[in-house]
Amino acid sequence: MSEENKNQWVENVDVCIVGAGHAGCEAALASARLGLETVMFTVSVDSIALMPCNPNVGGTSKGHLVREVDALGGEMGKNIDKTFIQSKMLNVSKGPAVHSLRAQADKAEYSRSMRRVLENTENLTIKQAEICKLIIEENQVKGVVTNTGTTYMCKAVVLCTGTYLKARCLCGEAITYTGPSGLQAANNLSQNLIDNGILLRRFKTGTPARMDKRSIDFSKMEEQFGDERIIPFSYSTDPESVQKEQVSCWLTYTNEETHKIIRANLDRSPIYAGIIEGTGPRYCPSIEDKVVKFAEKERHQVFIEPEGLYTNEMYIGGMSSSLPEDVQLKMYRTVPGLENCKIVRNAYAIEYDCLEPNQLLPSLELKKISGLFCAGQFNGSSGYEEAAAQGLIAGINAAMKIKGKDPLVLDRSEAYIGVLIDDLVTKDNREPYRMMTSRAEYRLLLRQDNADLRLRKFGYEVGLVSKEDYEKTLKKQEAIEKEVNRLKSTMVGANKRTQDFLTRHESSLLKTGASLADLMCRPELTYENLAELDDERQNLPYDVLEEVIIQVKYEGYIERQMHQVAQFKKMEKKLIPDDIDYDDVSSLRLEARQKLKQFRPLSVGQASRLSGVTPADISVLLVYLEQLKYRKK
Ligand SMILES: Cc1cc2nc3c(=O)[nH]c(=O)nc-3n(C[C@H](O)[C@H](O)[C@H](O)COP(=O)(O)OP(=O)(O)OC[C@H]3O[C@@H](n4cnc5c(N)ncnc54)[C@H](O)[C@@H]3O)c2cc1C
Repeated sequence: MSEENKNQWVENVDVCIVGAGHAGCEAALASARLGLETVMFTVSVDSIALMPCNPNVGGTSKGHLVREVDALGGEMGKNIDKTFIQSKMLNVSKGPAVHSLRAQADKAEYSRSMRRVLENTENLTIKQAEICKLIIEENQVKGVVTNTGTTYMCKAVVLCTGTYLKARCLCGEAITYTGPSGLQAANNLSQNLIDNGILLRRFKTGTPARMDKRSIDFSKMEEQFGDERIIPFSYSTDPESVQKEQVSCWLTYTNEETHKIIRANLDRSPIYAGIIEGTGPRYCPSIEDKVVKFAEKERHQVFIEPEGLYTNEMYIGGMSSSLPEDVQLKMYRTVPGLENCKIVRNAYAIEYDCLEPNQLLPSLELKKISGLFCAGQFNGSSGYEEAAAQGLIAGINAAMKIKGKDPLVLDRSEAYIGVLIDDLVTKDNREPYRMMTSRAEYRLLLRQDNADLRLRKFGYEVGLVSKEDYEKTLKKQEAIEKEVNRLKSTMVGANKRTQDFLTRHESSLLKTGASLADLMCRPELTYENLAELDDERQNLPYDVLEEVIIQVKYEGYIERQMHQVAQFKKMEKKLIPDDIDYDDVSSLRLEARQKLKQFRPLSVGQASRLSGVTPADISVLLVYLEQLKYRKK
């Protein structure tokens, strides 16, 4: 922005959302739907809810996040239910904790549909402009300034800048200073944030090439179909409305020829030539990384996914890269089915500025600057779903702040969103953070099927979920409890009818009577086949039944996890005074003292999750806090 800019125009609003990606959209909708006058900025309104990478929403643990966003009153679940082109429940052969929905999206339709919702939301204005500066006075955010010099005074700002801040894209030796998909980068805000004492770092991520489907030979690949019976993401979507024709995806593999070409050209890879400064995601590795780090593997999976119904572009999943174009062509053409492929968009890596998230409170507000919230890839996460989850929480909490209400903070035992945010603000993540079920220690309780039972009440309390939807969930809860209790109290005798049934199902005979619930816990018996012995049975909706079966079959595991959660909550409730002087806690180890002084955790529970703080340090801290209580009396 040139010095002599004379534009003195000032707008007054409640909330400014910087970004219209997956985080920005949820933040803007939450803030506007909670009655706040909201403006959402983006460098290009044509890139609202853009999917610059994989054409799908959900997948293992990410499907859980989408369901949780929906249960709280967010938009992503509804939007993908309207725009998916294939849907599949993953991991159904495994336990319910890892069942996860994934839907292939029509990217262009996904963006158009989200834009329609945003454009027709009251209290919400969309503005194409680059935010170059924040107005901060006495550690309070007051407004933002655009590249044209217009000022928007406001009470809260949510930064959801994704992969755009000081972005640069690398395809071999070719470097362009743009955002994803050739969009304008945002080059001015980073310095302003640094000048205001905000610590930034450099991350990178990458994407594979897109190819013209007419140049692909699908006869050499394995066709991947969607599920016959489609289950929607959103609790508000009528399941019958999503039963539709689906497109296929395709599976093929790299081979030794592919790996040879990559090895021979690593010197031209910006990653291995050390040109890329940013740190990339370990769990979304480029094909170069896979070939180098898993050299023993003879082949790597390659998923060919349609980008949409009205385009010939196909996404080459599993082969993201930043190798030069000529090498990309040679490499891709060794893959069965891609021998004659035509690249529409080259694979590339992108580097960008993002935040050190341990500067954030669990509400996603900056500790040092009141009213400034941050969400999405800017917080060091990776993925549409992770971004949407944070955007929703940040948007809700910006509104709660302005309304003088307590922020919504979900803990690790309540939601994957709680795990995501706690890991971001507490742990020392040195690379883009991607959600995984293994990160959630209470995952048997945090299933994708019960997100509404866990979170609808929070969405209702903050004002995003309607009374009608909340009551629907309460009724569902009631129906589940009623059926579980009925199964537990309905006894079947060790009579001929029962014994014949058990014999036919190769299940051990009864010596005395047993409840239907007891029998259901036998692996060879199911709720379905026990219908024969269950005269009182009613027809129950699919979603109620799903819960009943899980709660009966996994009761023991669930109770054990509930017990662990009770222990966890005890430590979370042990709050640490804001003004604690860790130098006064004499027997703390040096490393722990340094970490505690740097992070200043809110509770003993959060302190226990800091790397470098041991259980012994926590015992020392607990004793000190007890003594402090008496000192203050
Ligand atoms: C090349 C590439 C590859 C990726 N690969 C993967 C992957 O393999 N796996 C994965 O999980 N995720 C991947 N992602 C990440 C995924 O796209 C993001 O996680 C997701 O889009 C993040 O959403 P967001 O809302 O945080 O940010 P974005 O979707 O990046 O949106 C940011 C928004 O902020 C706006 N903006 C930024 N700065 C300003 C400013 N100063 N003023 C005004 N507007 C501004 C932009 O216009 C845009 O609307 C990749 C992304 C890219 C670009």
